[in-house]
Amino acid sequence: MPAKLPTNLEEIKEERIETDILVIGAGNAGCFAAIEAKKLNPDLEVTLMEKAHIDRSGCLAAGMDAINTYIKKGRTIEEFVRWSRAQAGGLIREDLTISLAEVLNQPIEEWERWGLPINKEEDSDEYHTRGKWDITIRGSEMKVILAEKVREFGCKVYNRVVATNFLLDGEKVIGAIGFGVRDGKLYVFKAKATIVATGGAAGIYKPYQADGVDSHHMLWYCPFNVGSGYAMGIRAGAEMTTFEMRWCATRTKDFNGPIDTISVGYKTPMINAKGEKILEERYAELGGDAAPRYIRANVPMMEWMEGRGPCYVDTRGMTPEQIKDMKIDYLNERPSFVLFLAARGQDLSKEPIEIYGSDPYIVGGHTASGYWIDVKRATTLPGLFACGDVAGGVPNKFVGGCAAEGMLAARGAVEYLSSVGMTEIDPEQIAREKARVFAPAIRQFTEGDGIIPREMEERMQRLMDEYAGGVHQFYRMNREQLEYALKHIRILKDQTKYLVARDLHELMEAHEVIDRLEVAEVLIHHLMFREETRWPGWQTRTDFPEKNDEKFDCFVNSKKDPTTGEIKVFTRPYEQIIPGDRYHP
Ligand SMILES: Cc1cc2nc3c(=O)[nH]c(=O)nc-3n(C[C@H](O)[C@H](O)[C@H](O)COP(=O)(O)OP(=O)(O)OC[C@H]3O[C@@H](n4cnc5c(N)ncnc54)[C@H](O)[C@@H]3O)c2cc1C
Repeated sequence: MPAKLPTNLEEIKEERIETDILVIGAGNAGCFAAIEAKKLNPDLEVTLMEKAHIDRSGCLAAGMDAINTYIKKGRTIEEFVRWSRAQAGGLIREDLTISLAEVLNQPIEEWERWGLPINKEEDSDEYHTRGKWDITIRGSEMKVILAEKVREFGCKVYNRVVATNFLLDGEKVIGAIGFGVRDGKLYVFKAKATIVATGGAAGIYKPYQADGVDSHHMLWYCPFNVGSGYAMGIRAGAEMTTFEMRWCATRTKDFNGPIDTISVGYKTPMINAKGEKILEERYAELGGDAAPRYIRANVPMMEWMEGRGPCYVDTRGMTPEQIKDMKIDYLNERPSFVLFLAARGQDLSKEPIEIYGSDPYIVGGHTASGYWIDVKRATTLPGLFACGDVAGGVPNKFVGGCAAEGMLAARGAVEYLSSVGMTEIDPEQIAREKARVFAPAIRQFTEGDGIIPREMEERMQRLMDEYAGGVHQFYRMNREQLEYALKHIRILKDQTKYLVARDLHELMEAHEVIDRLEVAEVLIHHLMFREETRWPGWQTRTDFPEKNDEKFDCFVNSKKDPTTGEIKVFTRPYEQIIPGDRYHP
C-alpha cells in the first residue's frame, strides 16, 4: 500500500545513505556498472537507486530478441567503428567508440555464463547471427538474470526511489537525492563517486497513437525513461552533446513494434503503396534495405508526403519457417505484437506489415545524444560518470554497448574514488531540494487546485510534435516553428509552479514532466543551432535542406548556467581516428 501524500514538509521522513559508489538507474548499464565495481573491489559499498524495480526495469524489462552489436569472430574493431560511423552519417566520437569496442563482447559472454540463452549456429558453438553485428537470443528473462547477479555480488538496491537531482559541492557531484514512490520518504545518498545510468528520454513528443484515449505512453522506447538523468545534468551545468540527432525509427504502424533489425535480418524489402522497393531502388548506393537507420526512418515519411503511402515491409516472400522464427523473435521482445497480428487475422505470407515512423526520442545508445564524456566515461562534472543511453558521442551501442559502457564507467569511477574522500553536504541544499520535490504534493493541500501532470504532458507533447519536428509533421521543422516551440516550452516551464500531485505516483509524474521540459528546452536549442540537414528523418530543417560541412561537420554541444539559466550552444570538432570513407563502411 503506497504511503499517503505528506501535507507539510515537517512530516516527511528522511533516510540518509553513505556509499562509495552510487549508481542511478538499475537498468542494463547501471547493473553492469555496479557488478564491475564490485568485481574490481569487493570491499566497496555499491548502491543502486532505481525508480521502478530492478527485476523488470528499463529497456530490458520485457526482454529482447537480439543483441544488435557483437563483434563476431573474423570481424575487427576497425570494421565496427566504420559501420557505426556510416550508420550515424559520419559523425561519432571515434575515441569513445574504439574504447567501447575493445570490451563490447565481455558482458554478453558473461550473461551467457549466468544463464542467458544465446542461439547457436547449427552444429556449431558460434553464436547465431542475423545481419552483420546482431546475434539472436532468447532474452525474455535477461533482466531478471542480471538483477539476480547484482544482488549476488552484494550491491545494495533501493527500488522505487526516483532520483530528482544531484548533490553538489560547487561543480563536484557528491551523490544524489530523490523520493520513494511507495513510502514517500526523502532519500539522500552521499557518495564518493556517482554513475548516472538512467537511460534516454521518451515521451517528449506526442506518439502517433495518442488519440485522446490514455495512450500518452504507447511508445516504442521505455516510457519510464523520461530524461531525468539528462535533466539533472543540465540543471547542474554538465556539458551535453548532439541532442539534435534524435532517434526516430521505422516501426510497425499502430503498434510501435520494432521492425528494423527484424526486417533487415530476414531481408524483407521496404515497399510503398505502389509496390516499389523504395530503398533498393532509390538508395542502393547507401546499402538499399540495409541503409543507415536515419534514411530508413525518413523514407516512409517521404513516401507519405509525396502521395505513395502507406508503406510496408514485404513479408510475402518469407518461407513459413522464417515467419515462425520472426514471430518467435517478437515473442521475445514485443509479445503483444504477435497477439495484434493474431487479433487481426493477419497472415504475413499474404499481407505485409505496415510501417510508419515512431515519435522522436533522445537516446544516446542509439544516436549520439547525451553527456559529453571522456574515454573513462567521466562527464564534465567532477565525480560524475555516465553510461548507456544517457551518455553521448557513441551511437549504436544498444544492449551490448550500453552494458559494456557500464563496465567502463565503473572502472573510471573506481579509479577516481581512490583519490577522493567523502564530502559533507550542505543542509541548505537538502532543504531546498526537499521543498522542490514535494511542492506539487503540498500544493494539493494549500491551494486545493492546480495543473495535473498529465495535462501539462499532453500540452508539451503536442507542442513538440507540431513545432519541433514530430512524427505528425513528418519530422520536419524550420526556425520559426522552433522559436514558437521554445517560447511555449518556457511558458510551460514557468507553469510548473502550479503542478499538483494527488498521490505519490502523480508526484513522480510531476517530476517526469518537469524533467522532460528541461530536456525539451535544450533539445530545441540544439535543433535551432544546426542550420543544415545532416540526418534527414532524425533532423530535417526545411529552411536548411542541405548538409553544410563547412560549418557543421562537428558536434553541437550545450551547457546551461545553473545560476542564470542561460543555455550556451557551441561546437566541438570531430576527430577521425579510423581512416577511410566516413559514409560507406
Ligand atoms: C523496446 C526496445 C527494444 C530494443 N531492442 C533491442 C534489441 O533487440 N537489441 C539491442 O541490442 N538493443 C535493443 N534496444 C536498445 C537497448 O535495450 C538499450 O539501448 C539499452 O538496454 C539501454 O540500457 P540503459 O542501461 O542505458 O537504459 P535502461 O536499461 O533503460 O536503464 C535505465 C534505468 O534507469 C531507471 N531510471 C530512469 N530514471 C530514473 C530516476 N529518475 N531515478 C532512478 N532510476 C531511474 C529506469 O527505471 C531504468 O531501470 C531496445 C530498446 C527498446 C526500448
